[in-house]
Amino acid sequence: EAAEALARDRAPARMRELEALLERYGYEYYVLDAPSVPDSEYDRLFNELVELERRYPALKSPASPTLRVGGAVKAGFRKVTHALPMLSIHTETDFSAAGAAAFDERVRRDLGLEETDEPIVYDCELKFDGLATNLRYEKGVLVAAATRGDGTVGEDVTANVRTIRTIPLRLDPESVPEVLEVRGEVIMHRDDFEALNRRQLEAGEKTFANPRNAAAGSLRQLDPKVTAERRLHFYAYALGETSEPLAETQSGVLERLAALGFPVAAMRRVVRGPEALAEFHAEVLEKRRTLPFDIDGVVYKVDSLALQQQLGFVAREPRWACAHKYPPEEALTTVEAIDIQV
Ligand code: NAD
Repeated sequence: EAAEALARDRAPARMRELEALLERYGYEYYVLDAPSVPDSEYDRLFNELVELERRYPALKSPASPTLRVGGAVKAGFRKVTHALPMLSIHTETDFSAAGAAAFDERVRRDLGLEETDEPIVYDCELKFDGLATNLRYEKGVLVAAATRGDGTVGEDVTANVRTIRTIPLRLDPESVPEVLEVRGEVIMHRDDFEALNRRQLEAGEKTFANPRNAAAGSLRQLDPKVTAERRLHFYAYALGETSEPLAETQSGVLERLAALGFPVAAMRRVVRGPEALAEFHAEVLEKRRTLPFDIDGVVYKVDSLALQQQLGFVAREPRWACAHKYPPEEALTTVEAIDIQV
């Protein structure tokens, strides 16, 4: 009891300290594309704050970093208000099969299906470690592209996105809805990241901490010529606003997007029940190093869009999806790691 009282006494100061640290790290990561600590450290502090907020709800700040999505719009960019907000995803930090089971249990409870045996159908995908981007097509023409930003307002990166060769600039207007927003991740492959850092070093310019920061820093350039010189890739995984539905399931949406010419990762699978989720998680972990790009986990999504709609959203994340992460690979380069220790 004495220990409990001591913990409670210390909670407010620790919570304010964590809020300030997470705000600073978030600014460095989301706005400057230059993190000063590895993601695993950020996640550890974030989870500590989540836990304190759960134990002491009265002490939770209305401006807590746990309530926010991403960061602010970088100076110089035109702001774009998203037709549909771009949210975050609940992260399951238990790396074992229990993480998948916990998600399935929550979904079943939220749908009122605890008492039945009918397994839920999920779409399993890679969790790309890049920058979420929204592409807007009107009558088949790419008219706008925006970063996630704070989830409501993002940065206009249309000119930059047009330099990414694998993004279709034009779709057959006969086979797509009049308004079609495609969402996905802008990423940089590992070998392109290493080559870029070598060039930056030779030119005496700053290097990037990891491919994710290199991708973000390359897309968020006021001069699209710089973006054009960097090799960026795009993988589609969701829709934003659409004037007509593309399919009835998440997997169906991805198939349609692939057929329209969008890059969609081949490593994905429709499964039933929590054991199959955990199997996908384990299999992808084994194949992780064979991918040309970084992933920080996998994402499970309830496949039926009707069920997704029924489940809805809570605060900054949908109830129908979850990111199941992997233990961290060393996120920062050696140079950066030394910086942290001094
Ligand atoms: P998140 O990146 O963990 O999850 C949400 C995002 O996942 C989406 O916005 C989307 O961009 C992405 N995504 C990738 N594949 C997807 C798929 N198949 N389907 C749907 N979405 C997919 O959440 P977040 O809130 O954007 O960022 C938190 C992450 O950023 C953590 O990993 C954290 O460690 C890191 N971070 C690090 C620092 C630091 O200082 N090192 C600071 C802030 C945040």
